[in-house]
Amino acid sequence: MLALERCRVCQGGNGRLHSVTSALPIYIWPLPPGKSNRFLDAGLFVCEDCSHVQLQTMTDAFIDSFYEDEYLVLEDHVLDRSRIEALVSAFGREIIEDARLLDIGGGNNPVAGSLSSLGYRCESWVVDINPRPRAKELASKVVAGRFEDADLPQGHFDLATSFDSMEHFNHPSDVVARMAEVLRPGGLAVVAVPNLTGLISSIPHYMVLHQHVSIFSVGSLESLFSLQGFRRKALLREDTAIYLVYENVHGPKDLSPASVDPWAELDRFRSRMEVIGEEIKALGLAADEHRLGLYAAGGSSSLFLANFPWLRECLSAVFDREEHKQGRIVPGTDLVVLPPEKIASSGVEKLLFLSDSIHDDVAPGLSVDCVNLARFFKAPIEMENGKHRDAWNSG
Ligand SMILES: [Zn+2]
Repeated sequence: MLALERCRVCQGGNGRLHSVTSALPIYIWPLPPGKSNRFLDAGLFVCEDCSHVQLQTMTDAFIDSFYEDEYLVLEDHVLDRSRIEALVSAFGREIIEDARLLDIGGGNNPVAGSLSSLGYRCESWVVDINPRPRAKELASKVVAGRFEDADLPQGHFDLATSFDSMEHFNHPSDVVARMAEVLRPGGLAVVAVPNLTGLISSIPHYMVLHQHVSIFSVGSLESLFSLQGFRRKALLREDTAIYLVYENVHGPKDLSPASVDPWAELDRFRSRMEVIGEEIKALGLAADEHRLGLYAAGGSSSLFLANFPWLRECLSAVFDREEHKQGRIVPGTDLVVLPPEKIASSGVEKLLFLSDSIHDDVAPGLSVDCVNLARFFKAPIEMENGKHRDAWNSG
């Protein structure tokens, strides 16, 4: 039975279940043969007190188990660079030059890598539960462990960055409370998370996964920080992601108003998923005699297939151009990821794509019938405050 005992933002006990996504793979990346996956339900809960959308209560041990093994596909550094550039264009170079920076959860892909490639000098520390060798190479200091308990100097840092990590934390309010302690007074918390509204509009199948226990809106992220005495300094971007800067002022600890109606947004999410499923069904892929392939074997495609299991059942081959995925098994199938050179000899007659850029890049050179499904899940993003920028995700 799925339950939310305590809201991850406001600690209230008034979570209400909206809906459940069934049988999601715990590991969404292709796995080495022989490594078993688990398929569990994820409940979408709305906190009646602060409007935060989040998954059911999970134990710390369960969440830690997602990150013990090295099945995470490494992200590239383009996004971090664009985030640093956006920060500098808002506040000037002096925001980073010679600053003391704490990179929370950057053990995989430290911000220090982007900083040095952009020519900035600063003292950068990384704290991460499982820091990789790359972090040790790039950062001034690496602290392994949970940020909430890590041994860090109080009031030391000018900046704390948390890029794509806040949504993973089981106790984000403890993380933000700790940020208030290790940042100097007036220091800045620089935070990027996926955006509830933007995900529903542009990539809805990538919204619900066990790793993302929180699905923030601007309002709920705002409450997370204002409840720990931070004050908003700047909203730098709002589209599929939210990019916000908060100042450590040790101010009043109040809830912020909701920025969206979470219940209506989740209704929109479910109805979009239903429509997408119907539109894909109308293509007649399942009834087709032709052998069906998929060109994409990342986390997003695993989640897409988990949401449309009937489509997963129809596949006879999966391809990906990234070598580290090849030879591994697509979650929920017994299909081994093949290199694109095998498309011609695989017997696949119809090949599905989930991305405009990959489709446009690859399809013209192939002799099979290519079908791009991305058009079904991308809706135009309308943001009230006009902060939407297409550039955010094109990198
Ligand atoms: Zn709450």
